[in-house]
Amino acid sequence: MTRFIFITGGVVSSLGKGLLSAALGALLQARGYSVRLRKLDPYLNVDPGTMSPYQHGEVYVTDDGAETDLDLGHYERFTGVPSKQSDNVTSGRIYQIILEKERRGDYLGATVQVIPHVTNEIKEFTLKDTDDVDFVLCEIGGTVGDIEGLPFFESIRQLKNDLEPGQCIYVHLTLVPYVAAARELKTKPTQHSVKELRSIGIQPDVLVCRTEHELPEDDRRKIALFCNVRRDAVIPAMDVSTIYEVPLAYHASGLDTEVLKAFGLEHKKKLDLTRWERIVRRIKNPEGEVTIAVVGKYTSLLDAYKSLNEALTHGGIANKVRVNVEWIESELFEGQDCAARLEHVDGILVPGGFGHRGAEGKIAAAKFARQSNIPYFGICFGMQMAVIEAARNLAGIASANSTEFGKTSEKVIGLLTEWQTKKGTEVRDAKSGKGGTMRLGAYPAVLKKGSKVAGIYGAKEISERHRHRYEVNIAYRERLEKAGLIFCGMSPDGELPEMVEYKDHPWFIGVQFHPELKSKPFEPHPLFASFIEAAVKQSRLV
Ligand code: GLN
Repeated sequence: MTRFIFITGGVVSSLGKGLLSAALGALLQARGYSVRLRKLDPYLNVDPGTMSPYQHGEVYVTDDGAETDLDLGHYERFTGVPSKQSDNVTSGRIYQIILEKERRGDYLGATVQVIPHVTNEIKEFTLKDTDDVDFVLCEIGGTVGDIEGLPFFESIRQLKNDLEPGQCIYVHLTLVPYVAAARELKTKPTQHSVKELRSIGIQPDVLVCRTEHELPEDDRRKIALFCNVRRDAVIPAMDVSTIYEVPLAYHASGLDTEVLKAFGLEHKKKLDLTRWERIVRRIKNPEGEVTIAVVGKYTSLLDAYKSLNEALTHGGIANKVRVNVEWIESELFEGQDCAARLEHVDGILVPGGFGHRGAEGKIAAAKFARQSNIPYFGICFGMQMAVIEAARNLAGIASANSTEFGKTSEKVIGLLTEWQTKKGTEVRDAKSGKGGTMRLGAYPAVLKKGSKVAGIYGAKEISERHRHRYEVNIAYRERLEKAGLIFCGMSPDGELPEMVEYKDHPWFIGVQFHPELKSKPFEPHPLFASFIEAAVKQSRLV
């Protein structure tokens, strides 16, 4: 029987519901159970793909090409279970499905309503494609009390009756703030949050309380009493120094034990947390450090580069070093020389991005890295900018540019209008809608024999996730290769350049895909491990 754990949040947002879900998934795995994690997002966008990174942080892309919430990245990093399209849904998507059905006449004349039509659609989504696992952990976005969230809360309330007795539980995450003037932790916000939840018919089985200070026994009992939860099921959650310590900390405060108890399952299976202990030990005891400059556009909101930041940490774990990241707004290099800001760093990374603003600064950073022999990692947009740089400054194509920035006579980076997917030929033009219309999801690439990337992957063919509309124009291949930029990874039909590198540079690699999405703390991505290794070598030079 598949069991369901519904995870909700209260009091304020940003308490770490996604991390709680991911860590609980990891703990259940450590007890030998199989898990699947999914997220229900109450906002009205059909998916987060059209939202600005400033609004919603990173868009996490799955193998099957869905643009999803960044929490799915946490789920995958903590559990190693690849997320799927069916693991994230929004109100927008639910309403889209319902309105399509209504227009087709599927409701046979009925008045279409929130209850039962919207709630049924949410329930169907929640239960779909889950037979193969022991536990489904399902996080509800937002906080209890949000108008948008109500249909989702109502749906998970109904599911308790739809499912077998003991087949689902509710875990609620709240805040216990510290009021400095009174020198006290305050339980009232938690009481109110649970009251709100109970008023819509949901009684939490386990309460997780974020606090900055140790939760005194009296407070724990008080919360239990007022929130109608057993004392042991009130789980204190204090801040920890690295997110990878979260599973260990939650285990120490009894989270997994209480969850299993709520299901009436005694923990028969032996718990193995050595994987997490090893990672935390490595992070806390680095043998050295490197500094990486990330030259990007959304550097004031680090959530926009969530997976990237984690993948760099994983590269550090692989090399037993701490990775210090300097986030640099690329526009800076449009007015001033790069040297002052980049001379001292051990590696330069230009991440994915969209639009003209800051592009010339990224091109300048790629040039500086190439000329100064500093390791350079160009991801998606970062590869495209490195190719433009090579075209302009090595191949002598002075007006080389990307059609993303407007009309250009030398379309070294151009809009892809037709390409092959598993489902057939995808066709696009400049007027196509923006939502879900990029080259999205996993595509294979064939690596050139003897290339640096083939050595790093130790493979001939790889599969990585994409999210972009423009491509390096194959028509320029010969001129660029003659100038020294090797096309070391190609789509299997040889049409789409997937990776480039320089032969005579310590480490200069551009990739059209997003390797950061597949990196895990216990399985650092080979490109990130190798990039940090190169940065370690660089740090010993200066
Ligand atoms: N803007 C570029 C494109 O659409 C790169 C996208 C990205 O970096 N994810 O092709």
